[in-house]
Amino acid sequence: MSEAIAFLPPRPEVLARRAEILADLKELVPQGRLVEERNALVPFETDGFIAYRRRPLAVVLPETTAQVAAVMKYCHRYGIPVVPRGAGTSLSGGAIPQEDAVVLGLSAMTRIIEVDYANRCATVQAGVTNLAISDAVGADGYFYAPDPSSQLACTIGGNIAMNSGGAHCLKYGVTTNNLLGVKIVLVDGTIVDLGGKHLDAEGYDLLGLVCGSEGQLGIVTEATVRLLAKPEGARPVLFGFDSAEEAGSCVADVIGAGIIPVAIEFMDKPAIEICEAFAKAGYPLDVEALLIVEVEGSEAEMDAMLAAIVEIAKRHGVKTVRESQSANEAALIWKGRKSAFGATGRIADYICMDGTVPLSQLAYVLRKTSEIIDRYGLRVANVFHAGDGNMHPLILYNINDPEDAAKAEAAGMEILKLCVDAGGCLTGEHGVGIEKRDLMLHQFTQVDLDQQMAVRSAFDADWILNPSKVFPLEGRA
Ligand SMILES: Cc1cc2nc3c(=O)[nH]c(=O)nc-3n(C[C@H](O)[C@H](O)[C@H](O)COP(=O)(O)OP(=O)(O)OC[C@H]3O[C@@H](n4cnc5c(N)ncnc54)[C@H](O)[C@@H]3O)c2cc1C
Repeated sequence: MSEAIAFLPPRPEVLARRAEILADLKELVPQGRLVEERNALVPFETDGFIAYRRRPLAVVLPETTAQVAAVMKYCHRYGIPVVPRGAGTSLSGGAIPQEDAVVLGLSAMTRIIEVDYANRCATVQAGVTNLAISDAVGADGYFYAPDPSSQLACTIGGNIAMNSGGAHCLKYGVTTNNLLGVKIVLVDGTIVDLGGKHLDAEGYDLLGLVCGSEGQLGIVTEATVRLLAKPEGARPVLFGFDSAEEAGSCVADVIGAGIIPVAIEFMDKPAIEICEAFAKAGYPLDVEALLIVEVEGSEAEMDAMLAAIVEIAKRHGVKTVRESQSANEAALIWKGRKSAFGATGRIADYICMDGTVPLSQLAYVLRKTSEIIDRYGLRVANVFHAGDGNMHPLILYNINDPEDAAKAEAAGMEILKLCVDAGGCLTGEHGVGIEKRDLMLHQFTQVDLDQQMAVRSAFDADWILNPSKVFPLEGRA
């Protein structure tokens, strides 16, 4: 376990009152919805950023907005930090608690409240999983577009807090582009509705502000999301290349030509081998890099778009072009890609970077990334949303070897700085969390951060909501 990233020291006055706080919280949530035993708290100590863990004071699992409001009102009154949590799949440590915090888990709020086809939207509780929304409307020909690879587990509340993306966001946009409204509980327990079933609203865009605010402005308890009609057809196609840089340049040229497929995903050789061993998806093993390009529409539309992409790929020396021939084959191609992180976890511990770069810099950043990894004597598997320029180098290391862990973190930080220096940003979809918090001054000036912190303070003057995250501990107002 690494300790390079500091957490705020626990508030002694909160720790000292633990027994009293537990007794009070028990009154605010239904029986069995307060977790207080040491062993039962272990699953809540960390999230997908497993290098760090802290045992929280307690966990509450409310079932209604009113119960969330009661917990917030209580914690606000006594200055008790609160860390909201969905499924705990955050890769940036966004849901890792601190010792004096109450974890407010939304995973028991799993009701689909309304499906409204006339207004092409659905309203769900915050703990509903991403995939459950598409599952609920799929038989009627609809789907919810943002599709993080963790969609089987992650919650819509977590997606909103992180403004999550996914493979198909190239065409459909990320969470913020598919979110119409939220019910949110403010730090003092006030319940507010933002947005609704309409596309725009008067006044400041507070809905846009809440989306991506990493649990620091309030607790989302309900969300109204946009539903889309399923396309007539969809076809993933595999493009194999002899070099990662050629694959990267091909992506830039496809998008530069004004062609927007639904998805363009990238895998380098290590990632291809890892995913193929897991999913038996039929990925070519004799190439250095693979693009999964998905087109959709009528057969004629898909053929026309593919023909244009193949022409561009040929200019980059494409070695293999393989179209999926059946729904089963298409599903396997996506299973392989979407299982990439889990499949990598079978062979090593890893940290997943999330820097985003302008497409014109993709080939350069890929080359520099491998130079950084070589310099640290580490291994990397690259698998990412290439069409968005959203890179995910998975840096492999041994979590039980502190030296190896420190090297992996240092290499990761260099890669993220490289992305910023290439004109990109620290996060494309995983959020800042604790992982990238201390790099925020590489992206922003102190003046920029002061403005952002002023907004945060307007919602939560005492900074009790997810306090260790997003903003460097040094230089806080
Ligand atoms: C295998 C794997 C693949 C992944 N693939 C992708 C991907 O393709 N795209 C992508 O974007 N991400 C991906 N992720 C990251 C992660 O799944 C997303 O960030 C997801 O949105 C987190 O949802 P969650 O419910 O697990 O939230 P948590 O991890 O529990 O919490 C995440 C953050 O949201 C806050 N939060 C949670 N619920 C609420 C709420 N109701 N109100 C206010 N704040 C809240 C938490 O405080 C925390 O800051 C992946 C993760 C894994 C493990």
